[in-house]
Amino acid sequence: MRRYQADPLPPIAAVYAAVTGRSIAGVSPRIDGSVVVSCPSERHNDRHPSCAVNVKKNVFYCRSCGVGGGVLDLPIVAGLSRNRRESAQLLRERGLL
Ligand SMILES: [Zn+2]
Repeated sequence: MRRYQADPLPPIAAVYAAVTGRSIAGVSPRIDGSVVVSCPSERHNDRHPSCAVNVKKNVFYCRSCGVGGGVLDLPIVAGLSRNRRESAQLLRERGLL
């Protein structure tokens, strides 16, 4: 897949907090590096946390609705950007990139 910029990506926990307003900084990851949180998707009303955010691999995956991806996919899933280029711009505006 084409990369739109070469900057190192920010930690997915910081991006999750920025796009959802819910911090996971104080939650201890499981042995595989994942933290189970509410789904960031605007289309998924996730009342029981179904989304694994893996802070080691910098990826997320919702086992309930199937959305997932990397740091630049998270703002798209949350409905805040239309593509990875816009995601990178959003993260720059918020001082994360
Ligand atoms: Zn979901």
